[in-house]
Amino acid sequence: MDKTPRSVIRDEIRSIAAYHVPDSRGLIKLDAMENPFGLPAELREQIGELASAASLNRYPDPGATELKVQLREVMRVPDGMELLLGNGSDELIQILALAVNRPAAMLLGVEPSFVMFRMVAIATGIRYMGVPLSPEFGLDVQRLLAAIREFQPALTFIAYPNNPTGNLFDGEAIRALIEASSGLVVLDEAYHAFAGSSFMPELERYSNLLVMRTLSKLGLAGLRLGMLVGRPEWLRELEKLRLPYNVSVLTQQIAAHVLQRNDILESHAAVIRQERGRLLSGLGSLAGVQTFPSDANFILFRVRRADAVFGGLKARGVLIKNLSGSHPALVDCLRVTVGTAEENDRFLSALQQSLLQVA
Ligand code: PMP
Repeated sequence: MDKTPRSVIRDEIRSIAAYHVPDSRGLIKLDAMENPFGLPAELREQIGELASAASLNRYPDPGATELKVQLREVMRVPDGMELLLGNGSDELIQILALAVNRPAAMLLGVEPSFVMFRMVAIATGIRYMGVPLSPEFGLDVQRLLAAIREFQPALTFIAYPNNPTGNLFDGEAIRALIEASSGLVVLDEAYHAFAGSSFMPELERYSNLLVMRTLSKLGLAGLRLGMLVGRPEWLRELEKLRLPYNVSVLTQQIAAHVLQRNDILESHAAVIRQERGRLLSGLGSLAGVQTFPSDANFILFRVRRADAVFGGLKARGVLIKNLSGSHPALVDCLRVTVGTAEENDRFLSALQQSLLQVA
């Protein structure tokens, strides 16, 4: 009798690699689109008090009532829309895929985009199709409309701004996809704080649109909180797939408290947007670097010999993301998260040295 994973675990799971998180100890960490700013001391003390008074022997409020009140205000959720909370938006992606996974149902994405859309499709067993972006990383509307007509996807994910390219897709192109789709279209606005545009106000206009947000890029990645916003008739169904206590007592209480000081999170986001401009011009001034426009808290850029440059940066104490090899459109591409002014300066000088070394 074969009692090994080979005979029990699904083939498609055994054939994929786990989501890789590199060891960043001792390095300047600019690889994962985290926010470089911690919370001010006063707020940290209040969080300590909240944590010490929390009833950790009890399950969390399954409705997360307090937290939802704060989120509605901070995220400007239109009246009449419902909220679904997840243990990060990753979990919401999974819930969505599970919910629509009828036999032959299809999940549509664009490529390159956030890898979790495809990984969740594999994990949940739903068919997946990734339509390539145009060479400038825009939406290829004709190809997408053709795919929608032919395959009638039950679920389409569009990251707005897109990861890893950093750009906001054309709004009219997105509207055309929403109108052509009979399935759900989810706008993943993880990087909303750094972009000047959102589909949140358009929820009232489109009955098959959902908008997803996360606190991760706002400086609370460690808390793990994502949210999905949409019409009650959709969210009522999705809510049935949410495990009852997926958002912990501490996450609920701390997030609700910190969101009362949204002004602090916003001021950090403003510094990041400003630093993004400085980083873009710093990168642009280096010979042999091609940058791509960004509406997010990271910048995609291309060099000659990305693997060597990536290694050179790491040897100089800076960890970014090497995307070369992850998709044909990303050959020799690297992605750097916007850090503090000091981190960005150290990155730029390490990059300059690495470029000279590999030239
Ligand atoms: N969506 C996009 C487009 C992302 O880039 C990321 C994080 N890399 C996520 C969702 C996941 O965010 P969370 O931390 O909320 O799971």
